[in-house]
Amino acid sequence: QKSSPAQTEFYQAAEEVLESIRPLLDSDKRYREASIVERIVEPERQIMFRVTWMDDQGKIQVNKGYRIQFNSAIGPYKGGLRFHPSVNAGIIKFLGFEQIFKNSLTGLAIGGGKGGSDFNPKGRSDAEIMRFCQSFMSELYRHIGDTIDVPAGDIGVGGREIGYMYGQYKRLTGSYEGVLTGKGLNWGGSLVRTEATGYGAVYFAENMLNSRNDSLDGKTCLVSGAGNVAIYTIEKLYQMGALPVTCSDSQGTIYHADGIDLPLLKDLKEVRRVSLEEYVKAHPKARYIPVADYPKDGHAVWRFEAQAAFPSATQNELTAADAKALLANGVVCVSEGANMPSTAEAVDLFLDARIAYGPGKAANAGGVATSQLEMAQNASMTRWTFEEVDTRLQGIMKGIFERSHETAKEFDQPTNLVLGANIAGFRKVADAMIQQGCV
Ligand code: NDP
Repeated sequence: QKSSPAQTEFYQAAEEVLESIRPLLDSDKRYREASIVERIVEPERQIMFRVTWMDDQGKIQVNKGYRIQFNSAIGPYKGGLRFHPSVNAGIIKFLGFEQIFKNSLTGLAIGGGKGGSDFNPKGRSDAEIMRFCQSFMSELYRHIGDTIDVPAGDIGVGGREIGYMYGQYKRLTGSYEGVLTGKGLNWGGSLVRTEATGYGAVYFAENMLNSRNDSLDGKTCLVSGAGNVAIYTIEKLYQMGALPVTCSDSQGTIYHADGIDLPLLKDLKEVRRVSLEEYVKAHPKARYIPVADYPKDGHAVWRFEAQAAFPSATQNELTAADAKALLANGVVCVSEGANMPSTAEAVDLFLDARIAYGPGKAANAGGVATSQLEMAQNASMTRWTFEEVDTRLQGIMKGIFERSHETAKEFDQPTNLVLGANIAGFRKVADAMIQQGCV
């Protein structure tokens, strides 16, 4: 930690992984002999660049751009781009590190990468977003390629941004290739990619519950976030017979006991891009809790009675106090759509309570898995139906659950899917690194 004191989130993620793979390292000395831990925490490459663009007033703006190419032992780098003012080198490093194990767990041939910028898209016009994306790609294009590194979306990067970046990539290279995923459906995108992370987190929860002779049917659910992951988590929860009663954005939380109005949520966030405060205008019986009224030790969204929770906004949005409240209120299942949304203390509480807890790198892997399905369709110049992709996604989520569960059982901690997911993800990458020699 002394060499990089500012990378708090990276150390949090690395500590969790290294702590939970200890039983594997103790039982198989090949990994220590090959210095796998020392190698795997060091990114293969980190790129930082200046992004210069002109705003609508004609003023030149400057942002920081990042791409981390963390590990390519099992395939080309793959991971999203995040545009959010909180982005820094430590956040990108933590996300890239998690991505290695997540991608490995999917069972597909994809390495780990991540990127983004501290650009804040909020309040920017379409033209400003386009100019920013074009400038960002003007540097990134030289580092990526369909067999090298294939970025996707993340916070602040959806279909619109992928479109502008793809257009610029094509202009610079003259090449029409599957170099980004999350593309538009009429120019190389895959059906189900938009829905995949949210749907996948719900499929993962259902797999966890089914293994305990339980299911989501009839359960009241808490969801945080109001973006891509949260919206499609809510959609799938309804399809599974559950009742999602909350959502949240960076300004506040909605609690709606009758169930979140999904068409309204989509309109507010996907079309009008406005605050959730607007929600209560259409539903006076719903409650809006602004951030200023959140409990001092956590987040309002976790303080309602429910049986399942789906953190789907951002890292460290669920504290130890929130975890205690969830457990006291009867939650038996937590499936993480976001990356590292629960603090380390909150995770320990879930594991101690032996509830069905699915860590992000397992539960939210449906997004990257479907991105790989987009790459497969692009490479073979084919297009699968919604049902075909959805069936594959369900199979992949089942596979991730089973791999994590079987590995947890192998190490005598059958309810600990953190250990199961980390060891299963690590082992595949580590074995490939050993076989590929000193690189
Ligand atoms: P979006 O940008 O679509 O939505 C993010 C949502 O979370 C928004 O409602 C946003 O509020 C809220 N949010 C973001 N940052 C904060 C914050 N610091 N405090 C409070 N609220 C915040 O992003 P996604 O839905 O794509 O991503 C959500 C999470 O899921 C992230 O952790 C991401 O890494 C993870 N993930 C996403 C995948 C994907 O396929 N998209 C794949 C795997 C993981 P507001 O509306 O006010 O901006």
